[in-house]
Amino acid sequence: EAVNGGVGRMDRIQVLVRLRPLSEKEVARGEPAEWECINDTTIMFRSTFPDRPTAPTAYTFDRVFHSDCSTKEVYEEGVREVALSVVSGINSSIFAYGQTSSGKTYTMTGVTEHTVADIYDYISKHEERAFVLKFSAIEIYNEVVRDLLSAENSPLRLWDDAEKGTYVENLTEVVLRDWNHLKGLISVCEGAILVSSCALNYCSWCLSVVSFAHYVIATAQRRTGETFLNEKSSRSHQILRLTVESSAREFLGKDKSTTLVASANFVDLAGSERASQALSAGTRLKEGCHINRSLLALGTVIRKLSMGSNAHIPYRDSKLTRILQPSLGGNARTAIICTLSPATSHIEQSRNTLLFGSCAK
Ligand code: ADP
Ligand code: MG
Repeated sequence: EAVNGGVGRMDRIQVLVRLRPLSEKEVARGEPAEWECINDTTIMFRSTFPDRPTAPTAYTFDRVFHSDCSTKEVYEEGVREVALSVVSGINSSIFAYGQTSSGKTYTMTGVTEHTVADIYDYISKHEERAFVLKFSAIEIYNEVVRDLLSAENSPLRLWDDAEKGTYVENLTEVVLRDWNHLKGLISVCEGAILVSSCALNYCSWCLSVVSFAHYVIATAQRRTGETFLNEKSSRSHQILRLTVESSAREFLGKDKSTTLVASANFVDLAGSERASQALSAGTRLKEGCHINRSLLALGTVIRKLSMGSNAHIPYRDSKLTRILQPSLGGNARTAIICTLSPATSHIEQSRNTLLFGSCAK
């Protein structure tokens, strides 16, 4: 059992593991599930192959969720406390880390929706304060930052400000009206990912102009569209950001100091197979190959933070860690959801994912 290394450290970085069920295809191939959650905090690998006997290996985390757990359970037992700190003025980051197809997007979408529902619930019960809820969405692909809510889709620059810290220039922030408004915006983001993936990689027919018209074309070719989306999302990071501002009504318009502002960041990371490929390919960063600088930098930052040392934290090494710096370390709260496929064909990647999770503790 790991020892809590510093004040509040356990509270700041929560590492959770979520095992997804075998997919229909995996079941059809006759793949056995080789991972088993033996209690609320331990997941065990036990090879079912008689010709490949391996000693059972147990991995322990703050919480593990077996394949029958719903996203609601994952949210309530692992994420809620971290995410809802945003209403008290504390920044947070919630990450999904895992190989492509392990359930990152499935988990993050649900967790984001549950958070927003809870924030609205909180607001309705705290009439003594006036709240403003804002939403923004960022994609980082090949170290280029794009605004998923802007039709322009041009790369955005990062700036450092003494007061604000690092921020994304000209990032669209939409004041949320209600729940349906958010749902609409999230589908706009999905469209934007699709459009930029067509333009950047694949279709010659939309290389020149990028606009939502292309999204319409792409969705008309639904199957192709989904392939683009999967390819792209395995290489890019998406950050959905909820910013909550609140002030006591009795001081409204009188005293700035009563305003609380904080952001909760929901980060659907690039497929972690990119990080292992990068490690095996050496440390050189080559244009056009799929090595992911942000994913590697995040691993280093999280590892250093979790050691609780006062060592230099290399936030500046990537766009992802720069953007998230105000919501990592310091007073901020972090949860990492390691998503795992139970399939035999994914054993190596699953082990790498658990290794990443272990390093974050
Ligand atoms: P990733 O974003 O990591 O590439 P996805 O979230 O797209 O993976 O998940 C891959 C597939 O598995 C999707 O079809 C998704 O609906 C399904 N899936 C993932 N996690 C679960 C789960 N916990 N329960 C049921 N289906 C899941
Ligand atoms: Mg995904």
